[in-house]
Order: sequence, then C-alpha cells, then structure tokens
Amino acid sequence: MERTYIMTKPDAYERGLIGEVISRIENKGYKITDMKMMNLDEAILKEHYAHLADKPFFPEIVTYMTSGPVVGMIVEGQNVVTGMRNIMGPTDGLEAASGTIRGDFAHNKNENIVHGSDSVENAEIEIKRFFG
Ligand code: UDP
Ligand code: MG
Repeated sequence: MERTYIMTKPDAYERGLIGEVISRIENKGYKITDMKMMNLDEAILKEHYAHLADKPFFPEIVTYMTSGPVVGMIVEGQNVVTGMRNIMGPTDGLEAASGTIRGDFAHNKNENIVHGSDSVENAEIEIKRFFG
C-alpha cells in the first residue's frame, strides 16, 4: 500500500486545527498508521527543506517551523501521495480552492497548516527522516 508523510505545522497547533486535519485524512478514507508530536530544529529543517535552504526566506521558514510543535504522520492508502496533495491544496493558501485544507485555513504561502510529500520516493525518504 502506498504511504506518504503528512505533518501538521505549528500554526495548526496554535489554532487548534490538528483534529481538523486528522478528520479530513480519515474522512477521505486514508489510514494513519503512525503519529508523533515533535519540536523540530534547524538541522532537520535544512534536510527536509533542502530545496529551499538557499532561498532568502529560509530563515523565516525556520522561525515558523520551530515556533511550536508539529505532528508527523504516516498515512496509507491507494494513491495517497497525490490524494493528500489534492486535499491539502497548493502551497499558497490564497490560490488554494475552498474545500482544501490550505484553501479553508490558510491565506498565504508561508504559513499553510500542513506538509505532505510530493512524490512516492520523497515520501519514503521523509518517513525515514522522521520515524527512523
Ligand atoms: N514556503 C514559503 N515561501 C515560499 C515557498 C515555500 O514560506 O515562497 C514554505 C511554505 O511553508 C511551504 C514550504 O516552505 O509549505 C515548502 O515549500 P514547497 O515549495 O515544498 O511547498 P509544499 O510542498 O509545502 O506545497
Ligand atoms: Mg514540498
């Protein structure tokens, strides 16, 4: 069964939206097979966001992602990588359609509630990164 790595971000914790994200995953028919709350540090964020580490806004990502706890999850289901990206919506909450997590709860591309792996290959790398 295909797996993906989903992670609620610190704004989801702060705003009390962790349950909302979990409900949407479960309502879609996917299975959460492991879950843990963590506080991330800059080193793991440099790995996880390696494609953004040389961007001028990377320090803001670190400030945001270390501002509170995240909840990492392994989510399983048929075509779950694409399916989760669909129910999350695109990166920018302003562009994300209503009905998606980001469209309903985010309004910019910085603080957007949830992370989801962008490919099957990266999902396995991210699951290893956060669950060992
Ligand atoms: N991000 C940001 N500004 C940008 C692009 C990305 O603050 O211009 C943050 C945002 O929180 C995003 C994360 O970096 O979710 C990872 O970016 P990516 O392009 O991988 O988007 P995602 O896969 O999360 O949709
Ligand atoms: Mg990404």
